[in-house]
Amino acid sequence: MRTLFVAGNWKMNPTTLEAAVKLAEEVKAGVGQAVNVRVAICPPSLYLYRMDEVLAGSPIGLGAQNMNAKPEGAFTGELSGPMLVDAGCTHVILGHSERRHGHGETDDLVNGKLIAALESRLLPIVCVGETRLERESDMTEDVVGRQLEHSLAGLTPEQMGGVVLAYEPVWAIGTGLTASPTQAQAVHAFIRRHLAAKFGEATASRVVVQYGGSVKPDNAAELLACPDIDGALVGGASLKAADFLGIFHAGQSVVAQGKA
Ligand code: PEP
Repeated sequence: MRTLFVAGNWKMNPTTLEAAVKLAEEVKAGVGQAVNVRVAICPPSLYLYRMDEVLAGSPIGLGAQNMNAKPEGAFTGELSGPMLVDAGCTHVILGHSERRHGHGETDDLVNGKLIAALESRLLPIVCVGETRLERESDMTEDVVGRQLEHSLAGLTPEQMGGVVLAYEPVWAIGTGLTASPTQAQAVHAFIRRHLAAKFGEATASRVVVQYGGSVKPDNAAELLACPDIDGALVGGASLKAADFLGIFHAGQSVVAQGKA
């Protein structure tokens, strides 16, 4: 059984702590004590300690958007797993396409961060996804398969069971273009098959695989109803509480209609 999981990636927004607190308070009020759909917010790291205070008493998880693979040391500008845990984090996004493409993160680097996150007992959300050119060249499965192979290298099936994946086609991120439910489900099913071949059926059936790429309240239910889509990683729409809660409510309605 996989519980739907909706996470908000706030990226480098909002620009003041005051606005971040207001957004987190609104999300907290909207989610209440509901646990039939899991929720996490991933604000800028500068706000994490304060966000942990705001989220006290709520089931909402707190995630960072990146971390360094080393626990401490001379790494100017970086943050480590132990630091994120100290700030109250439960989750960390790894290998987001904006880091892969904008900051040169390789699958091997993501793999090192993943192992470090698990050692820190953070729940990693590992992102994979193809560019538009790769999709148009019919390379989606090659690219996603390679990202999975290398980013998840060395994990035991037990460790894999504690990792969340996010399929985020790069061409759908922040563009308003969304993969159709059919397109997204096909890649999610491919990811599930890949996990089964590498980690076994039992593990593959436990791993939560989120979809990300212009998810909005009005397209969320259709995506979340797909059998292998277990949640959403939400960028732009996570910056307005009403929109993010709309996606959360879409998840709840999908659960109410019988999806675990
Ligand atoms: C993201 O950056 O993870 C994302 C899915 O962004 P958006 O929802 O804005 O496409």
